[in-house]
Amino acid sequence: MELLFAGKPLPGRPDRVRVADYQRLKSDYFVEKPQAKRTIVHPDVVVNDWKETLEALAQGDVTTEADRCMSCGLCFECNQCMLFCPQDAITKFRGNPEGQVMYTYYEQCVGCHICSEICPTGYIDMAMDH
Ligand code: SF4
Ligand code: SF4
Repeated sequence: MELLFAGKPLPGRPDRVRVADYQRLKSDYFVEKPQAKRTIVHPDVVVNDWKETLEALAQGDVTTEADRCMSCGLCFECNQCMLFCPQDAITKFRGNPEGQVMYTYYEQCVGCHICSEICPTGYIDMAMDH
């Protein structure tokens, strides 16, 4: 916001951000929960005041909504790839300045695609020849 108000150029979107489509998600990992809906207040009620026409969610509903997030295309550190890799080629890299991340030792990887198949969020994207 500070950059925006100062009229300065905004940083570009990182190349790594790629939203996975539903076909790439492993929906079995996620519990289906109903969406918390915001109540729409009729315009006749809010006209001439500054109230929102959409009421805010209650705090508990916000938390429930956050729990429904499937992290499409992002790693949420479920460790499934690490646990299922038959080569012990995946580990948690704790020395990363941005926080710990999953790390692959490519010299141990045999390209079996198990990690890609098991990843609930579609984060691991392997080409057929990798
Ligand atoms: S493709 Fe490589 S990293 Fe993934 S599960 Fe197989 S051996 Fe492990
Ligand atoms: S890459 Fe996928 S399977 Fe591995 S920890 Fe992240 S979300 Fe889980």
